[in-house]
Amino acid sequence: MKKETICVQGGYTPKNGEPRMIPIIQSTTFKYDTSEDMGKLFDLEASGYFYTRLQNPTNDMVAAKIAELEGGTAAMLTSSGQAASFFSVFNLAGAGDHVIASSSIYGGTFNLFNVTMRRMGIEFTFVDPNCSEEELEAAFQENTKCVFGETIANPALIVLDIERFANAAHAHGVPLIIDNTFATPINCRPFEWGADIVIHSTTKYMDGHDAAVGGCIVDSGKFDWMAHADKFPGLTTPDESYHGITYAEKFGQGGAYITKATAQLMRDFGAIQAPMNAFYLNLGLESLHLRIQRHCENAQRVAEFLEQHEQVAWVTYPGLPSDKGYELAQKYLPNGTCGVIAFGLKGGRAAAEAFMKELKVAMIATHVADAHTCILHPANATHRQLSDEELIACGVGPDLMRLSVGIENADDIIEDLAQALDAI
Ligand SMILES: *Cc1c(COP(=O)(O)O)cnc(C)c1O
Repeated sequence: MKKETICVQGGYTPKNGEPRMIPIIQSTTFKYDTSEDMGKLFDLEASGYFYTRLQNPTNDMVAAKIAELEGGTAAMLTSSGQAASFFSVFNLAGAGDHVIASSSIYGGTFNLFNVTMRRMGIEFTFVDPNCSEEELEAAFQENTKCVFGETIANPALIVLDIERFANAAHAHGVPLIIDNTFATPINCRPFEWGADIVIHSTTKYMDGHDAAVGGCIVDSGKFDWMAHADKFPGLTTPDESYHGITYAEKFGQGGAYITKATAQLMRDFGAIQAPMNAFYLNLGLESLHLRIQRHCENAQRVAEFLEQHEQVAWVTYPGLPSDKGYELAQKYLPNGTCGVIAFGLKGGRAAAEAFMKELKVAMIATHVADAHTCILHPANATHRQLSDEELIACGVGPDLMRLSVGIENADDIIEDLAQALDAI
């Protein structure tokens, strides 16, 4: 089926007389006739549900839809995008291991890797997504377990050369994990370019209505764990906490990674998405293809308006031919990039503050990628503790505004920006 049909119908096919809509299984636990039946579930000898901290049928239906959209073999929902990022890496790397990540990633992910996961004994090397071949090659170590990047980085809006990073990872026998939150599978399917695992903050476009925080991990099923068995003992040797099961043998290349993440990480950390939130997420997914198209059309018009305005100093939007990422966007995102634009005014930080006060349609919010147009001045919000020098060093200058263009009428958004520019 094509993406549009999967958005509406994927993941769940009701049988005769069953509900048309994905049912919300609002139950922590599940009943069995014998304790022998239950025992088989605990041994992973039979598939089924026993406790919603690990798995829930509503979640699995929605995860199956996202797996279909990405072209993967298995998927799981998590309580947030942060949980998805953490699980995706921690499922492969532990204390003493090393991970390579693009330096242009979401701030929350950077902090998770650079501070919290370092405390767990995992080392990280951050590489510029546009670094030279030598620099990328030099980042790999004996104990490197995976490479991590974002299709379109939030908020820097840098497009990753996915194929190049996939080739480098595979040459060293490790998988490439891609955060595909901003592009969504409507605009880019990283598996088609060599990525092995995809993660999402479903809080953004997938939900799309500011309703539910959530995340998702999808496995392409393409990475051959057994061919690199020494690097990934967690997948290729017996798990003593599951009666000696070897995930890659028992669940094969297509199922091992997600089964291990469910059986070990979800069991122990419990970062499961609430079934009610999975239901909201599914409502968002049903119109994802329509909304993404409108987000991109609107953002393109807004970016073009800003670029030609005399008070605007600079605009970053990979849909603009003048943008550094335009060529990569043409390759990986030919039908549109995303709805998020970064820009600055000639008056710098002070002008940004004055400008944002005047906006009426664009709301000030710490959010991106949903139906409502919203704007954030990171220097005054998420990056408030940094000095101007530190802001420039991390690529989020003091004048940078992140504008997330919604699905309202583009004329109204442009008119709002124009009146605020006039007012200052
Ligand atoms: C928001 C975001 C995250 C974190 O997701 P939460 O759902 O907020 O935990 C991760 N990656 C990207 C690209 C994001 O925009």
